[in-house]
Amino acid sequence: MRIVRTVDEMRAAAVAARTTGQSVGLVPTMGAFHGGHLSLMKRARTQNDLVVVSLFVNPTQFGPAEDLSAYPRDELQDTVLAEAEDVDILFIPSRDQMYPDGFATTVHVAGISEVLDGAARPGHFDGVATVVAKLFAIVAPDAAYFGQKDAQQVLVVRRMVRDLDLPVRIEVCPIVREPDGLAMSSRNAYLDDAARAQATALNQALVAAEAVVELGETRAEPVLAAARGVLAASGIDPEYLELRSPDDLTPVTAVAPAALLAVAARVGAARLIDNRMLEVSR
Ligand code: AMP
Repeated sequence: MRIVRTVDEMRAAAVAARTTGQSVGLVPTMGAFHGGHLSLMKRARTQNDLVVVSLFVNPTQFGPAEDLSAYPRDELQDTVLAEAEDVDILFIPSRDQMYPDGFATTVHVAGISEVLDGAARPGHFDGVATVVAKLFAIVAPDAAYFGQKDAQQVLVVRRMVRDLDLPVRIEVCPIVREPDGLAMSSRNAYLDDAARAQATALNQALVAAEAVVELGETRAEPVLAAARGVLAASGIDPEYLELRSPDDLTPVTAVAPAALLAVAARVGAARLIDNRMLEVSR
């Protein structure tokens, strides 16, 4: 595995691969690898000749009061884990490589960026869209791999790709969970034992809502109430808990035929998100 730290070297490596007819897959990450990241690398490995994983803790997607400086970083361990997944290139650009002096451009995906996490974290998805657009321009991948864990991010990236006619295929991989159901996240490292135990309620709330739908309930209110009840019993007051259209995140009043149930909550020192696609089975 090669470690690349400059934009020029990354671009040259990707161009060299493409000119010899190789397909290129890109997995954008912020590092502190866990099973979720590794699942994206595995999928990319099965589908591409050259697998590039980017590791960049992107400052522009953190708000001024957020955890940029505390965000977990372990480049050595990440290198070992990526190598074990047979990644070809680990691209670790510096902040100056990505945002040189005078950097002035922002990609804003209107509408879909402004609800749920976008409302809770103003500017977050501008940072995401901008850095992902840059990575697509630098690597020019055939396919890029994202996790359903960040469902809204997937929709923002898909919309950007469509609107800007970017020649990249977006592949979405399912949420990888701990054995007790907690969605894997780099931010789980912030949880102490008590908060770690409490955090399992997020997935349990989504599962409870799904169970209500499986019993035949499709109206949003009773479905949300089931989830809210589980959270309340664990002492969690969600930042949001909402049923939205899986296509464009507009609010829905019923699960018909499908809806995305999304939750965000502070648990101990962490702000966690999770989601589940609810579907009416017929
Ligand atoms: P991050 O490093 O947190 O920016 O995540 C990099 C990529 O990994 C994103 O596409 C995430 O959606 C994805 N990811 C993070 N956690 C998980 C998970 N538990 N399951 C699947 N994908 C994940």
